[in-house]
Amino acid sequence: MLTVLLTGGAGFLGSHLADGFLARGDRVIALDTGSQKKIRHLRRHPRFRLVVDSVMNPDILDVLAARADLVYHLAGIVGVEHYVGDPYEVLNVNVNGTQNVLRAALKHGRRVVFASTSEVYGKNPAVPWREDADRVLGPSTIDRWCYATSKAAGEHFCLAFRRLGLVVTILRYFNVYGPRLDQLDVGRVVTIFMGQLLRGAPLTVIGDGSQTRCFTYVQDAVAATIAAGVTAAAADQIINVGSDVETSIRELAERMIAIGGGPSTLRFVAQESVYGAGYEDVARRVPDVSRMTAILGTRAVTPLDDGLARTIGWFRRQRADGAPDDA
Ligand code: UDP
Repeated sequence: MLTVLLTGGAGFLGSHLADGFLARGDRVIALDTGSQKKIRHLRRHPRFRLVVDSVMNPDILDVLAARADLVYHLAGIVGVEHYVGDPYEVLNVNVNGTQNVLRAALKHGRRVVFASTSEVYGKNPAVPWREDADRVLGPSTIDRWCYATSKAAGEHFCLAFRRLGLVVTILRYFNVYGPRLDQLDVGRVVTIFMGQLLRGAPLTVIGDGSQTRCFTYVQDAVAATIAAGVTAAAADQIINVGSDVETSIRELAERMIAIGGGPSTLRFVAQESVYGAGYEDVARRVPDVSRMTAILGTRAVTPLDDGLARTIGWFRRQRADGAPDDA
């Protein structure tokens, strides 16, 4: 039985990862400052513990890293509205919080899995991206790029700590979605479209909707993420985690309407009208998943229609039960 520390353990990916480790029979310590709604179902679980504190607090990290066998660093500020709304917070937490976690893990000799992002590749047009692909970002005057920069700085810290003896795996996630994602109408495109879909309002497709993403169902991401922490060959590796099935945003909107039903239509909007001038879109985002398959032994197998049906069903049940949107 492992004791696994999950920073950001009450978040979207963290809560699902907690479920995954608990199902294996492991113990989970979740460190999180945020809402506890996503882990409400675990409150009385005998092998789950929530610590309400921050990765900005080195003292708590020291205590918790001493107790854990394995550390997942998932805590971070994510979501385009934060990148353009509060870049300071993004940079501060993602860069300085990551250093704190790595320092504590190194001190106690714990292995680390760091949750990075496909956003680090930026707008490199040469898809699919292998893990050694270039990072192609816009200017620092575009706030959007602060997230990619902060996560890439976190990766550099991981590699620097590796030289000091830390065992670390870096995972770059590709548009993970599923139940418990964000609150309706905010955060990532799936929850923005979801809020609109459930109200029967038009889905706001930015631009012409030809931009693509590879949407990865959370259960598939969790399988890869657990493997990254418990597979010897994953140590000291950088690995893309995602589906390699490319879907345009227009198609995503159409499929959500087809699956969810209701009167929603598509409404094409200019990007400035949603995120202002601090935003620049990524035209295509596609991983090369050969390392994930070879090293982690997992694949993103959930078809988009199935994953969307489960996600729409979950959000619909939350609303019917009168629970808060991000419960
Ligand atoms: N998007 C959209 N309508 C919205 C919100 C987002 O068309 O209301 C698009 C956005 O322009 C991007 C894609 O959906 O091309 C994915 O956006 P998200 O914010 O989920 O994250 P990203 O993949 O860009 O990091």
